[in-house]
Amino acid sequence: MPQLKELIDMTAPEKKNAKPCPFCGANSKDLHFEKFEVMMFGCSILYRVNCDLCSGSGGYADTRIAAISKWNQRKTIRKEKR
Ligand SMILES: [Zn+2]
Repeated sequence: MPQLKELIDMTAPEKKNAKPCPFCGANSKDLHFEKFEVMMFGCSILYRVNCDLCSGSGGYADTRIAAISKWNQRKTIRKEKR
């Protein structure tokens, strides 16, 4: 299981690229990144987008840009694949 390490604010361009929250409709200004550390094949870092208002989150990705694109593809609430 990925372990949450820190919360990171999005930069202005990142907020511009991110779509509003698919769960609660929050504007992208209410989004931030969660940074995870995962102990698997050595140690790697994963990011995902998280909503301040409803705690909804996007899929894990290895870069912030990829995390935003996963977030933008999210349409409905569903379980994470493992
Ligand atoms: Zn939300």
